[in-house]
Amino acid sequence: MKSQAQYRRFRTLLIANRGEIACRVIRSAKAMGLRTVAVYSEADAEAMHVAMADEAVLLGPARARDSYLNVERVIEVARKTGAEAVHPGYGFLSESAEFAQACLDAGLVFVGPTAAMIRMMGSKSGSKMLMEQAGVPLVPGYHGDAQDEATLAQTADKIGFPVLVKASAGGGGRGMRIVRSAAELAASIVSAKREAKAAFGDDRMLIEKFVQNPRHIEVQIIGDSHGNLLSLFERECTLQRRHQKVVEEAPSPTLDATQRERVCAAARKAAAAVNYVGAGTIEFVSDGRDVFFIEMNTRLQVEHPVTELITGIDLVEWQLRVAFGEKLPLTQDQITLNGHAIEARVYAENPHKNFMPSVGRIRTWRTPAETNGLRIDAGYRAGDAVSPHYDAMLAKVIAWAPTRDEAIERLNRGLGETDVRGIVSNIPFLSALVTHPDVRANTIDTGFIERELKNLTPAAPAPHDLELGAAVVTILAEEAKAAGAEAHSPWRTPGWMPVGRRQRVFTFRHGQGAEHKVTLTYGNGPATLSIGERELAFTTSPDAAGGFELRLHGIKSHVFAVIEGHELYLRTRNGRFDLHWVDPFGGETEEQVGEDKIVAPLPGTVVALLAEVGASLEKGAPILTLEVMKMEQTLRAPFAGVLKAIKCKVGDIVGEGVELAEVEPAAS
Ligand code: ADP
Ligand code: ADP
Ligand code: MG
Repeated sequence: MKSQAQYRRFRTLLIANRGEIACRVIRSAKAMGLRTVAVYSEADAEAMHVAMADEAVLLGPARARDSYLNVERVIEVARKTGAEAVHPGYGFLSESAEFAQACLDAGLVFVGPTAAMIRMMGSKSGSKMLMEQAGVPLVPGYHGDAQDEATLAQTADKIGFPVLVKASAGGGGRGMRIVRSAAELAASIVSAKREAKAAFGDDRMLIEKFVQNPRHIEVQIIGDSHGNLLSLFERECTLQRRHQKVVEEAPSPTLDATQRERVCAAARKAAAAVNYVGAGTIEFVSDGRDVFFIEMNTRLQVEHPVTELITGIDLVEWQLRVAFGEKLPLTQDQITLNGHAIEARVYAENPHKNFMPSVGRIRTWRTPAETNGLRIDAGYRAGDAVSPHYDAMLAKVIAWAPTRDEAIERLNRGLGETDVRGIVSNIPFLSALVTHPDVRANTIDTGFIERELKNLTPAAPAPHDLELGAAVVTILAEEAKAAGAEAHSPWRTPGWMPVGRRQRVFTFRHGQGAEHKVTLTYGNGPATLSIGERELAFTTSPDAAGGFELRLHGIKSHVFAVIEGHELYLRTRNGRFDLHWVDPFGGETEEQVGEDKIVAPLPGTVVALLAEVGASLEKGAPILTLEVMKMEQTLRAPFAGVLKAIKCKVGDIVGEGVELAEVEPAAS
């Protein structure tokens, strides 16, 4: 086992992680002229971090244990690719003392603290003992070795309920239970131990006083190998769900300048207790008056960008400089705090279904330009798969502004202009969260999200005329695109298709609820939409931002829309809307699975062919349009597959039940 100073200049960096943090690290490493090596699992062959790196090597199967957590394999790849250093990101092996040591033993620079420091600070109990000695204020509690039921019960009584039972090896909010009375204690310990054993292979528990109205405040620190140690102000991460951060900001809006200096000094003292080298975070819980140490994270954190935005420091660059053996470029009094920054974590999860993770392929990925104080740290792009094997975080939207109110405003706008489709995301929930009056007023605690969940996950809003009109335009545009037929394009209204007056009826459903009918009248003269009693003239044209402009009854609106089969996702000035298009003919394909023949549902005329033989079709892709009693209906692929045959041509008059096309299901 080697233990000599490991830090030295290197040229090639392996990033032992995936997703947004791997991309984030690669960005700074490249800017510093380093050659970057990505690693990936079988599930990630096409992932964004793989595309970004200079080189990428397969680690193994999708399961993290067989790939990103496989220490031997990561070291072997580093050796083979000539990497001289390893950045672990966060999560995965970032707080593994064994991995840090394995890197050192293999002659690689580990971008982080030494294995000994990780070992000392990695256990919540061990670090609390150290902090106690260093005189850092702790939450009252028990963090001794004895784990028998009697000792734990006795100490809990002494501390006074409510208490928090916590896994010493814990992370990500797991292995933690609030216990409100002595009667609940034994059962909570059993279940917390079970969870901790499964998640961390270690079921040792500590007990803390549960701080009332808790707020989470943490301090970014960084040390070099020359004995310099700096604090880079604090972050507040009180918006949590199940002890997991959701929105983070810097500086804390709760602290005044004196409190700020006090908590930063406590953090420096904590890090100095282990002569800390590298980036790290000292976490505190606050009762609104005092702050108490809870744990140290010996790595870069998810929320590090808010610190970067208020200090102007690139933390990854500084991590790499420290790993080169350089001195920190600034001194404590050269670190200044400028403005306010706030970050929201975008997850593939469904807030309406208890935040169940959502897996699948991302069909649409749209984020705002990174100007005007907005920054997007993403790990995914359109077309990427969200695999069930890893954390569901996709990206972070981060905003900076001179003041907190303006930063929140920018974040809200940034979230409004972010669209992720194909999977379900928490973006609407985040928008509701950052605009909540209590968040604006900063009258929150860590239980806020759980208490306010109903108001943060409102039912889907009913569409207005604007959304119904936009839905019709979206379908027409998609059909015209599929047909490659400019003449069909709704952008050419009014008066496109000089074929007399025709009508077409569209039915949309929103949520589980109401159906809305819209009748499109077009042909000679201006096109109109009839919705209920209302008859609305409209024109429309594509806009530069990839959406379109809809003038409905003289009012111009910008619309962004995505259509996937029968599902429409719209963003208008009224908000976000999800509509289901009830298509009576090409229709409700769910019921027709296995039916590979496309037949005429009623007698009619074939008016357009929208796909070519041999084309691969997604489920719901348009194949042809049939005119039935002056109404057009588009027949669609009942499942994903290949268009095997078209058995009609434009102008054919066909009877009910006549076979018009054949689709061969995609092999799955
Ligand atoms: P913080 O870094 O602020 O402490 P977390 O504890 O939520 O915030 O972040 C670490 C967690 O991130 C890990 O416990 C894990 O659940 C998750 N994670 C690990 N690897 C990744 C990754 N590559 N992308 C996104 N999330 C990850
Ligand atoms: P993890 O390793 O999972 O991040 P932490 O010890 O950092 O575990 O706790 C996670 C969160 O739980 C904290 O961010 C804080 O909001 C809350 N928490 C932790 N300890 C206490 C406490 N003693 N009283 C109240 N809340 C706490
Ligand atoms: Mg923590």
